[in-house]
Amino acid sequence: MNQYRLGEFHPFGGGRFLYLVPSAGIFELDDACRAVLSRLEKGEASREELAAIAGPDVVDELHQAHAITTNGFSPQLQQPPADFPLQTLVMNLTNQCNLSCQYCYEFGEDKVATPDGKPKFMDFETARQSVDYLLTSSEGRRAIHITFFGGETLMNFPLLKQVVDYASKKAAEQARAIDFSLTTNATLLTPAIIDYLSENRIGVTVSMDGAKESHDQFRVFANGRGSYDIIEPRVRALIKQHKTRPITARVTMTSQAMDVLGTYKHLKHDLGFHEVGFAPVTTSPNRLYSINESGLDSVLDQFRSLADEYRDHALRGKHHGFSNVSDTLAELHQGVSKSHPCGAGLGLVGVGPSGDIAPCHRFVDSDDHKLGHVSTGLDRARVSDFLGRGHINTKTDCSTCWARPVCAGGCHHEAYVRYGDTGHPNLHYCDWIRGWTGTCLEIYAAIVEHNPSFLQHFADRKAA
Ligand code: SF4
Ligand code: SF4
Repeated sequence: MNQYRLGEFHPFGGGRFLYLVPSAGIFELDDACRAVLSRLEKGEASREELAAIAGPDVVDELHQAHAITTNGFSPQLQQPPADFPLQTLVMNLTNQCNLSCQYCYEFGEDKVATPDGKPKFMDFETARQSVDYLLTSSEGRRAIHITFFGGETLMNFPLLKQVVDYASKKAAEQARAIDFSLTTNATLLTPAIIDYLSENRIGVTVSMDGAKESHDQFRVFANGRGSYDIIEPRVRALIKQHKTRPITARVTMTSQAMDVLGTYKHLKHDLGFHEVGFAPVTTSPNRLYSINESGLDSVLDQFRSLADEYRDHALRGKHHGFSNVSDTLAELHQGVSKSHPCGAGLGLVGVGPSGDIAPCHRFVDSDDHKLGHVSTGLDRARVSDFLGRGHINTKTDCSTCWARPVCAGGCHHEAYVRYGDTGHPNLHYCDWIRGWTGTCLEIYAAIVEHNPSFLQHFADRKAA
């Protein structure tokens, strides 16, 4: 006779909800369900015993959701198909930069790029081939996306304009939607560039680390001078003049700049960014700017305070700009269960100035991580090796972790910098990831209970 036991889940919302692993579903419990689970907390039980407690339908429902199990079965995520359609192309228009940020993954001490002998600026022919490659490799998708990146992206602004013209025309010929965004350090923004970006609905993310003192710690020119005073008026003009897309700040946190609350306040309220997202610096642990364990605890505490503020806004139906919460809530609401931590090498690739294809922008110009060339397409053996090692099923350390549907082992690039293997799980962040995912689940529960219509925003985001 089948004996039932508890499945794999993470309870939250005061025991009202289960986060089901690995299906990533969210299951709301009633008293009957709770009675079955509390019985199984004491040990295995037969179907008859459980049906006597809550009725056979409840037992079946919990079983189908894998909240309870008879054989410990956990559905395994399959390897995505080899011809998975591309959605996003990240184009590194140049590998040159007018700043010398010490922590930069492209130029800093932990860089993976090997740019010697390669072009410093992409030319139009390579850009044209890149757009054609995106269009042919994304068959079946109506909407596609190009993100412009660098080095400093705006050092090759003339090419950006040519790409927007060419890609818009080609996409229109195929009755497909294409949109554009860019990341910049903001030093080269001019009123004319801002007008162009606004007129063409180009989304802008500014790499900015907070108020002057924090920002100037690392984001400096070659002579060591901080860039804050140069960018501050430009960022204000950008936010004022660019009316067609939200403007986002992307903050890199280091051991010398961990004031999340102060940084958010400055970027959101003093400067007026619509969204602010934070990420700890990617580095080997022995760098002075690397954030140690107690630093991460402090950052998580501050994240939680800001997340509470987000929740209070959401309960009043108001937008809050802390994008780390929005991003995680969107994944939870959409039931994302990842075979890989991100789209790198799947729906997204990076292209360097030479036309070499990399898993994402962070691997651009690295011979070790080259996946092909825009003129010839992907090298399937290399892609299969990259995706095979990055698949959650190969990460045995993650196999019992309840946060794996959203984490899947974490960033391939970070793993390479830390462990020398893109497929290694980022075990230095596990407490952080579980702590943060748990916080976002509690916020989710509060929103479901008090203002569920707010979640429509995340369904719409998926549809988009
Ligand atoms: S890296 Fe850590 S937090 Fe992420 S899925 Fe693996 S064990 Fe879980
Ligand atoms: S590998 Fe890392 S940096 Fe690249 S897209 Fe994935 S999460 Fe982002």
